[in-house]
Amino acid sequence: MKNKKLSAERLWKQFEDLAPRLRLSATDRVVYTHLLRHSRLEGKLQLRFSISWLAQGTAICTNSVRWAVRRLIARGFLRLVERSKAGHVVEVRLPDQIPAVAAGPVDTYPLCPNRTDHFEEQDFLKHPALRRAIHLRERGRCFFCLGPLTVSTRCIDHVIPLVELQDNSFRNLVSCCRKCNSQKSDLPAEAHLRRLYNDGRLTAAQLTARLRASDALVAGKLCPPIPPVKLPSSAA
Ligand SMILES: [Zn+2]
Repeated sequence: MKNKKLSAERLWKQFEDLAPRLRLSATDRVVYTHLLRHSRLEGKLQLRFSISWLAQGTAICTNSVRWAVRRLIARGFLRLVERSKAGHVVEVRLPDQIPAVAAGPVDTYPLCPNRTDHFEEQDFLKHPALRRAIHLRERGRCFFCLGPLTVSTRCIDHVIPLVELQDNSFRNLVSCCRKCNSQKSDLPAEAHLRRLYNDGRLTAAQLTARLRASDALVAGKLCPPIPPVKLPSSAA
């Protein structure tokens, strides 16, 4: 898909001016700008690419690149059009088109008490009602191994490890069993799921379904049920 070629100077200034709002890690910034360069600066709205191509072009390892792409999709920098064995097709958004950075103050990042306004910005670890909502969403099954959970065996884990992404939103938290929580540690979810499959704890079909669920989660498609309480502010 073609669109009008952008002025590189204008785009670079826009990117730098919005940088404080973008809140990109060094890895995500490199990956985003590389994708921007090969799409919008070439007059293309969408880009088809493989993770290995992206890793080679950015000189970053494939695993880090893969997770950077997931974070960029989750945060709205990229819109996932298609994903297959051949690679990804994404629409690369311009800095001023990214929903999360299009408006609002630069120097604050309020986590509003009103869930209906800022649901996605809530820290789901801070409030019991929000933690319960994560457990309810998984319906008593471990997000990873699908084993049954009880109140005493369940816990909450980060899909993208905290060391990589300080994100306590519902997009990055799941209800899981203590065994998965311990075994996953700082591994990416995909690596843990593949290990479960190799250990015979997931079938091939379950592995595929869990990988899809993991992608859907990061993309914000697995909203937990709305807690029927007024939440306190989670702003620091
Ligand atoms: Zn489990």
